[in-house]
Amino acid sequence: MPSKEQCPEIRAEIRKFCSKYGDEYWRKLDKEHTYPEQFVQELTEAGWLAALIPDQYGGSGLSMKEASVILEEINRSGGNSAACHAQMYIMGSLLRHGSEEQKRRYLPKIAKGEVRLQAFGVTEPDAGSDTTHIRTFAKKDGDFYVVNGGKIFTSRVQHSDMLLLLARTTPYEQCEKKTMGMSIFLVDLRTAGDSLEVRPIDTMVNHETNQLFFRDLKVPKENLIGEEGRGFYYILDGMNAERILVASESIGDARWFIARSVRYGKERVIFGRAIAQNQGIQFPIAQAYAQTEAADLMRFRAAEMFDAGEPCGPEANMAKLLCAQASWAAGNAALDTHGGYGFAAEYDVERKFRECRLFSIAPVSNNMVLNYVAEHVLGMPRSY
Ligand SMILES: Cc1cc2nc3c(=O)[nH]c(=O)nc-3n(C[C@H](O)[C@H](O)[C@H](O)COP(=O)(O)OP(=O)(O)OC[C@H]3O[C@@H](n4cnc5c(N)ncnc54)[C@H](O)[C@@H]3O)c2cc1C
Repeated sequence: MPSKEQCPEIRAEIRKFCSKYGDEYWRKLDKEHTYPEQFVQELTEAGWLAALIPDQYGGSGLSMKEASVILEEINRSGGNSAACHAQMYIMGSLLRHGSEEQKRRYLPKIAKGEVRLQAFGVTEPDAGSDTTHIRTFAKKDGDFYVVNGGKIFTSRVQHSDMLLLLARTTPYEQCEKKTMGMSIFLVDLRTAGDSLEVRPIDTMVNHETNQLFFRDLKVPKENLIGEEGRGFYYILDGMNAERILVASESIGDARWFIARSVRYGKERVIFGRAIAQNQGIQFPIAQAYAQTEAADLMRFRAAEMFDAGEPCGPEANMAKLLCAQASWAAGNAALDTHGGYGFAAEYDVERKFRECRLFSIAPVSNNMVLNYVAEHVLGMPRSY
């Protein structure tokens, strides 16, 4: 549909790959609330989830632009890459801030799929969007840090070997700057035993997410990434990649909705004519298409700046916002176009409608993106 598509070779490969995992595959998983294990395993073995790991550590060494196209195409095929997208970007903290020894130990295994690092524990029940108020604490004790506290909405823990954890290492009250005193750790979920309780959360989408409780969990001190106390900045560093990739998934969703709407609108004959002949049907689809194309430009601009090593916070944030809004507009158009059938699971519109909505809230809510743009881009006073 878009006149000139970027990275056509990668698109063609991913389309071929995804053609083996059709609507029925994703629909069944959604109904049964189960994890797309086979899809993720095969995607990993094919090397696609190691896109952003440099060649020297066994990855594919692709650009952010190319990586973003991989996730876009998965969602555009009707799939849901949120099941595994984090395997692509969580390792970024390790890559940027880990020691050479840590990188050599973990990255080649992550690239091969021998180790899954796709769980990321930041959000806490009492802190929410206000990350500096997290309470999970890692106390240094000899060769270990002892972790106590809890996280919420920690996704993919049951399908991950390791977790990237953000914890306070200095109490909030003792920090001169509230963004200091937090650290990031690699937690080996395979050896956590009873020190970690995982309580699954039933959600509106098929997204394996959990509440976690840490009780005297011992993490070896060599699993600290970077400098103690600077973890918040390391997490911030990784957010641009996360925002750009999630934005691309929204673009994939939007394009799926638009394609399905156009097809159904032309096929469905009511009052003796195709419903797509009515402007009431055409306009919302055309509007969503225009929104999607515009949002996509911001996504590629952010990705290209990221690849050039330029600061791209505003662009990555705006891409995430605009792409999430475009997919939501396209989802609504698709639901209206399909009428009652949009609610029937076998048309997949209702599933994608639920799935695309997540990106207005997670990994960061659109409100927080607007706060960022208002304060840091436009220089208006902080509102909170
Ligand atoms: C399915 C799912 C998977 C997730 N996976 C992960 C994960 O793997 N790891 C992880 O760490 N987290 C994860 N999250 C958590 C997600 O990042 C948070 O839900 C999100 O950041 C918002 O935090 P909150 O839910 O506590 O909302 P709150 O912070 O309580 O906010 C609630 C609402 O108030 C608004 N609000 C709050 N403060 C302001 C303000 N100052 N100005 C304007 N509006 C404001 C917010 O925008 C939001 O709309 C996941 C969430 C979901 C639903």
